[in-house]
Amino acid sequence: MQFHGALTKSGTTIQVEAALLVSEPNQPAGSLFLARADARGVDQVTIAEVLPMIGGGDTRLRLSTGDIFRLPAGREHSKLESFYPRRSRMGAGLSRLENVRWRGVVALSIAFVFLAIGIRFAIAPVGDAMARMMPPHLVERASTMVLTQLDLVILGDSTLPQASQDQISKEFERLLALAPAEYRNTRLHFRSAPGIGPNAFALPGNDIVLLDELVTFADDDDVVLGVLAHELGHVAEQHALRQVMRSAVVAIGVSLMVGSEESILEEVAGFGGSLVLMENSRAFELEADHLSADWMAAIGRDPQALVRFFQKIAEECGERCDGGSMLASHPSFSERIEALSE
Ligand SMILES: [Zn+2]
Repeated sequence: MQFHGALTKSGTTIQVEAALLVSEPNQPAGSLFLARADARGVDQVTIAEVLPMIGGGDTRLRLSTGDIFRLPAGREHSKLESFYPRRSRMGAGLSRLENVRWRGVVALSIAFVFLAIGIRFAIAPVGDAMARMMPPHLVERASTMVLTQLDLVILGDSTLPQASQDQISKEFERLLALAPAEYRNTRLHFRSAPGIGPNAFALPGNDIVLLDELVTFADDDDVVLGVLAHELGHVAEQHALRQVMRSAVVAIGVSLMVGSEESILEEVAGFGGSLVLMENSRAFELEADHLSADWMAAIGRDPQALVRFFQKIAEECGERCDGGSMLASHPSFSERIEALSE
């Protein structure tokens, strides 16, 4: 076997083509010979020193003759390594690792981090752009489908007296007049769901669901209207749709980063993505709270009604129901009360 390279004569800059020979025909086992282009015979040599690599370049070997043999980078030369001085063998292994795997890992990690950062900052703008590009009739259809599904699974008919429903609807109309034109057709759906408790929610389209349980629990017209104003804020800012689209960006980003296979990496990347989504949805909640306060004030109703609602929930079920924390999708009631009181 011949390892071709260049030989620099000791103390000079003159280079000649040369080759180190291992296990060539008639060559004694375990011996190393040097053949030079400028000389006829071959000399038996040993490797005295493996010189430090310069940035993963050529391998430089100081031979027993004092000459430096330069082996071009990228050639497989593991057969030669058994001739390295004992001390250098581990070093050679390490520098090979450094050459190939280490640098590969570093390059991949850097690419991964940049991709992750890119996706992290793309989640909101890309998701929001996708939400804006959705044709309104498709959004409406999706919203209707969600409501139909919820009706099948968990929602029941409202048992609120018709007079109360009419009263709430009439007040709601006043809020609608304040919303941007394309959201003034937002529909208010009365439902009941003992399994969910006192709640109201906005669907991806122009639909708001108000549960009887909230009306009963609040027992306060301003609070009910304040909650509806909050939900209308979600509709007017397309929070639900934007959240769905942002989740889609996370899903696409995760599969870009780690492929579509099930792996712990996917879990980790997905978890990172959902943290970003939660942070977004906390911001959405606070935004809707603010819109609620503004609109309530604009129609001459109590802008602090939501605060009373949060306080009442906190009183009735205490810390247990105060869902806010670093990992929660909702800010805590105390956070929201504080934000609204400003
Ligand atoms: Zn909300």
